[in-house]
Amino acid sequence: MIHRVRLHTAIVPMAAAFDHATRSRRSAESLLAEVELAGARGWGEGAPRGYVTGETLDGAARAVQACDPAALAERIDWRTFDSAIASIAQLPLPELVGGPSAQAAVEIALLDAVCRCFARPLADVLRVLDPPARVRREGPTSVSLVIHLSRDVASTLDALTPQAVAALRHVKIKVADPAGAVKRLAQARDRLPADTRISLDVNGTWSAAEAEQIAGELTGVAWVEEPLPPRSWSELARLRRATGLPVMLDESCTGTADLDTAAASGAASHINVRLSKCGGFLAAARLALRADALGLGCQLGVHVAEVGPLWAAGRALATAWGLWQTVEAGRADEWFPAPLTRPAFAVDRLLHRVRPLAGPGTGIDPTEELLRHARCLATWEPDGGWRRNA
Ligand SMILES: [Mg+2]
Repeated sequence: MIHRVRLHTAIVPMAAAFDHATRSRRSAESLLAEVELAGARGWGEGAPRGYVTGETLDGAARAVQACDPAALAERIDWRTFDSAIASIAQLPLPELVGGPSAQAAVEIALLDAVCRCFARPLADVLRVLDPPARVRREGPTSVSLVIHLSRDVASTLDALTPQAVAALRHVKIKVADPAGAVKRLAQARDRLPADTRISLDVNGTWSAAEAEQIAGELTGVAWVEEPLPPRSWSELARLRRATGLPVMLDESCTGTADLDTAAASGAASHINVRLSKCGGFLAAARLALRADALGLGCQLGVHVAEVGPLWAAGRALATAWGLWQTVEAGRADEWFPAPLTRPAFAVDRLLHRVRPLAGPGTGIDPTEELLRHARCLATWEPDGGWRRNA
């Protein structure tokens, strides 16, 4: 039984802006859901991004308040951890909660609360999906170095110690125009070990003609992420056929419908799985399993400026499964110098590795600093339904 749900928005200024080809972000904008069960409280987060899913923070907040937690609770078999997780995994969240980021906020909060009730880590939830044995691999994992658009590739890599460069397994470079992309790629190649993989993220800004023209100069890249405007299925398929360029879909792939279209049309070799755009922890994990079964590679990505539950849930997925071609961790420690979570966000920047968080649940709690930037929009209780705060 759900005792209370609180819905918050968290708008947290960032210490440094993050730029890519179409946007510059200066503050985190997340939706936080707080679910109280008897004796346990769970936190979930959604990151609505207009340029990824067309969602807004206000729209996602309305979607959560249009959902009836009593109707969710009725469908959950609360008797044991396994029964509760199995029934949450069956919830038709797209029907009950509109929009992927709203679903992610509600689902992660519910899963976190149930895990805390039964003193289990979030990674244990993944057993409900019965992944193939080769997918399961618990432990620390390598993370990509992401070089964003306003950073010079050469000076970013030159600032690392030789040991940190040698430990890099994957470098993702944000790029804009094709000529600049070739230059940035060359700077990276000159400085990285031959076995460090490099990918370029175009954020949908090249034309099909530009991409075809430049493909010959990109040989050896692990993949190019979202080279063309989102869902240009036939142009993407043609680009791959004509050039052999490996293509990762990000903005183009938010769920199984996109994945199936991409696989059927030959539009992609890889997809970027991110929890909020995919509708939550289990939805993201399911999408990755399906991509893997279809022979597509997966990156486990992050949305810029996730404030807590999202990156922590992503961390659980990153460190529970070994199917990821690479994993992104984000830079919450640099963007938010005062920790937003307890324990604080941490990445080993020398070895480019992250460790699993100790549970229960996601393993993190919001700090006063995060709550200071959070605004409680509405509270739901079984007797009174949703009540908006003034
Ligand atoms: Mg991307």
